[in-house]
Amino acid sequence: MEVISMKPPKFSYLRPNDLAEALDLLAEYGEDAKIMSGGQSLIPLLNMRLSTPRYIIDIGRVKELHGIKEEEDAIVIGGMTRHVDVEKSELIKEKCPLLTEGIRWVGHTQIRSRGTIGGSIAHADPSAELPCILTALRGEIVVASKEDEFTLTPEEFFLSYLLTSLEPDQLIKGIRFPKLNKNSGYAFEEVARRHGDFALVEVAAVINLDKDGKVAEAQIALGGANAVPFVPLETEEFLIGKEPNETILKEAATLQLEDLDPEGDIHGSKEYRRYLTGVLLQRALHTAVKRAREGVVV
Ligand SMILES: Cc1cc2nc3c(=O)[nH]c(=O)nc-3n(C[C@H](O)[C@H](O)[C@H](O)COP(=O)(O)OP(=O)(O)OC[C@H]3O[C@@H](n4cnc5c(N)ncnc54)[C@H](O)[C@@H]3O)c2cc1C
Repeated sequence: MEVISMKPPKFSYLRPNDLAEALDLLAEYGEDAKIMSGGQSLIPLLNMRLSTPRYIIDIGRVKELHGIKEEEDAIVIGGMTRHVDVEKSELIKEKCPLLTEGIRWVGHTQIRSRGTIGGSIAHADPSAELPCILTALRGEIVVASKEDEFTLTPEEFFLSYLLTSLEPDQLIKGIRFPKLNKNSGYAFEEVARRHGDFALVEVAAVINLDKDGKVAEAQIALGGANAVPFVPLETEEFLIGKEPNETILKEAATLQLEDLDPEGDIHGSKEYRRYLTGVLLQRALHTAVKRAREGVVV
């Protein structure tokens, strides 16, 4: 373990070599520490003095947190795995294509070369792509501390804007992204002002069709529209059992727009973001249904 004093702001830099050491450090210094993975969000916060931890725990060397593994029904990605490795993974492209489609929207190539899956989820920006995708997929966050290891659903994990239920002695060990079912289609839609910017709003959707071509399951998440990724449950229920023609998809897309509470700013008013969410949802549902039809095994 190395301890180096740096500035600005002044902090002690701790670099554990394995998971046990990282969890020990968190147990000892967690209240006054910040984990650093890719540093793409943390370093700007430090530079702007919006975060002033006494300790930085750099988990870059913790091998147990790197990598992509296939389980029976999910792809499990280590918290320290970089966006670029997810983007380029053939396994993920085949088994979890919504993630491949959505991760390309995260910043620029340089950001994706350093930024990590665990960092994006822990940062909990409501406009970030990965929280939205994870919520649509009904994935899980694997949390570890010195004492414990357990999983949380996105609803349990994301509490508000940049706020999660992680305790100071805990870290994200990995994320479980469920695999796409054979009769399912998926889509990710986003509008950002410039390429690489955070989304104004975004939509992730998975549609599963039964053998008659009707909707068996609908999983939707809307990002940038509320303080945490929003699951429009009534919309999902409305779609189930229906033939997903354009009239139905259009109706579904506007059903819960009033439940959205996006922040309005110079880039787009609250009303515009609500409207845009409806447009993107209709597009996402259309694409997901089309892909599900193409993939249906009768
Ligand atoms: C110019 C620019 C554009 C960007 N555009 C986008 C975008 O369009 N979409 C998007 O989603 N992101 C965007 N980002 C953010 C980027 O995706 C970051 O990679 C990501 O938000 C954080 O990942 P990181 O690995 O860099 O985390 P860090 O910056 O190292 O950490 C971020 C936060 O998460 C905590 N943390 C990190 N890892 C863990 C862990 N394993 N367990 C617990 N806590 C942890 C840290 O303590 C810190 O609070 C952008 C960043 C920049 C600089």
